[in-house]
Amino acid sequence: MDCIFCNIIKGHVPSHKVYEDDNSFAFLDIAPVSKGHVLVIPKKHYVNLEDIPEEELALLIKAVKNTGKILKEKINVKGYNVQENNDPVAGQIVPHIHFHIIPRSDDDGLKLWPQEGYDEGEAEEIIKQLKITN
Ligand code: AMP
Ligand code: ZN
Repeated sequence: MDCIFCNIIKGHVPSHKVYEDDNSFAFLDIAPVSKGHVLVIPKKHYVNLEDIPEEELALLIKAVKNTGKILKEKINVKGYNVQENNDPVAGQIVPHIHFHIIPRSDDDGLKLWPQEGYDEGEAEEIIKQLKITN
């Protein structure tokens, strides 16, 4: 299987490394939403949240936290969004799980997704399908 992120881990494709530990690797996104946009990936190939074992996900999230701390301390990032596009319908293009860390600033003008409301009974219907009872 030819995976671009596995090839970055192997050093076959160049990247700008930001952070690395035994299980995870973080590097600059080639097409940043904002300057300092980083991708954090597991060194082993897993496709998405359903694929990655819980223990490895916990290690990956620790790496996200460590990387965010580095961005705050070293390049003065005030805050950031963490995003994981889970499956193609959600915008996942590279099928090797990764968390985006997107630095934010007060005047960056970035708008997150638009929100809508529920019509009468819609929320209850969804909860019924999810079989959640209060
Ligand atoms: P996603 O849409 O969540 O799968 O995000 C994939 C991300 O990988 C995009 O933001 C791309 O800009 C980024 N990307 C793809 N190839 C590379 C690469 N060789 N080096 C750095 N970032 C990359
Ligand atoms: Zn991979």
